[in-house]
Amino acid sequence: MSDTVAAISTPLGEGGIGVIRISGAGSRAVLERVFRPGKGGAALREGADDFSGRRMRYGRVVDPESGDTLDEVLAVFMKGPRTYTGEDTAEIHCHGSAAALRRVLTLTLREGARLAEAGEFTKRAFLNGRLDLAQAEAVIDLIRAKTDTTFDAAIRQLDGSLSRRVKNLRDRLTDLLALVAANLDYPEEDVETLAPRDLAEHLSSISDEIEKLNATSHTGRIVREGLRAVIAGKPNVGKSSLLNALLRESRAIVTDVPGTTRDLIEEGVSLRGIPIRFVDTAGIRETEDPVELLGVAASGDAIARSDLILFVLDAGRPLDEADSHVLSHIGDRRFIAVLNKDDLPARVREEELLAWLASFGVGSAGLRDLGPSDAGARDLAEGPIAVVRTSMKEGRGISDLEDALESFVFQGGAPPSGESALVTNVRHADLLEKSLSEIGDGLAAARRGEAIDLVEIGLRRAWELLGEITGETAGADIVEEVFARFCLGK
Ligand code: GDP
Repeated sequence: MSDTVAAISTPLGEGGIGVIRISGAGSRAVLERVFRPGKGGAALREGADDFSGRRMRYGRVVDPESGDTLDEVLAVFMKGPRTYTGEDTAEIHCHGSAAALRRVLTLTLREGARLAEAGEFTKRAFLNGRLDLAQAEAVIDLIRAKTDTTFDAAIRQLDGSLSRRVKNLRDRLTDLLALVAANLDYPEEDVETLAPRDLAEHLSSISDEIEKLNATSHTGRIVREGLRAVIAGKPNVGKSSLLNALLRESRAIVTDVPGTTRDLIEEGVSLRGIPIRFVDTAGIRETEDPVELLGVAASGDAIARSDLILFVLDAGRPLDEADSHVLSHIGDRRFIAVLNKDDLPARVREEELLAWLASFGVGSAGLRDLGPSDAGARDLAEGPIAVVRTSMKEGRGISDLEDALESFVFQGGAPPSGESALVTNVRHADLLEKSLSEIGDGLAAARRGEAIDLVEIGLRRAWELLGEITGETAGADIVEEVFARFCLGK
């Protein structure tokens, strides 16, 4: 990878500035051919260290063949290896128009650079040992982050929070493997003997640790990809009003005529820093109307693809068959019961709701308070995960609903912070899962008192799987796949 690559690293559009990045052994040569310092446009002095100390220099990009000035710029050269890619790197800060960036890029390509592939700068950083694979993946997440929680999780991953946990697990496996190998190779010698019971103990402790890490992937996936929450309920219970309140802007139609929201309305928001995509479904009801049937079918699909359902009920009227029809669509999926219209006199009480749910076989065991700020939102072990009372008319209950959503995302705990590692990436979760199963097999064998060489294979495999997270044991195909998801210029 000794060739020199260049790309536009800022988005193409209009902006104050746009940056061209060049990396590789020839960076300085390319920069010197296209850059003329100051206003005069004289070539850089031969041998003079015009770019020492990584100082930004003002000047022009001039086509050395035609002598034409292409743009007025600032440029900097950074000697490797203490750069992002680990190689010599240059940046040219042009005016942020597509025209300026394209012509300057084209010139650098003519003067010795090759167009960088998507993610190639970060891939070079990985191959040069500046970042491990999990850290490189955090870079994509940083670029794509739309909310604070997503960004914070990516920053911690870039900082190595996940990599350190994985490394620690692999170190423990290495120690154990050494012990196993010593026992296999020199059983008669004076080595620390490994009784099956001790082996099982070691394995079970490592397995617990992996499980703990893996348990963060529920929150992690939502933090990275967003929570899909479907708003479901019979017509006229206040679904659109609820969506509006959640979005804090009026986009969904609010009317008195049942069944007007036939098409699904989807809105992505950042709620307390959590990315959430709300889907407002058509009112689900039994109908013969073919158009409405399509809406009901779309709602069913949306429910099936959701992480969580906001099941909206009218607290002003007795629960009825139309509600149970919606419940049948929800099936065994997790939901928050939203008792809306809590301002009306004939209010459905929580006990009534729970008894009603129980009559359809939906459990409500494990009711417990969410904490000192409990204001109606409750956590249930099965059936609804919370019951929240709201009045869209009086603007009440939205923050309780937000509490319940937050509690679902963070599984009742606080948003992760500081050193805590969060598994946000499905690739990592999958590898943790597989390594758990390898260690689980080894553990079972050890518990049965089987020969330790049987256990060794699983241990080695788990060690390799964990290494794929940080990239130490990842093959070229995995590396290619990871970087293929990057954008140009990163
Ligand atoms: P959807 O069909 O479920 O989407 O329900 P809408 O949001 O369109 O609301 C239906 C009707 O109920 C509208 O007239 C709303 O103004 C009214 N509504 C919504 N929420 C409340 C509430 O909390 N209290 C009262 N009294 N009326 C509400």
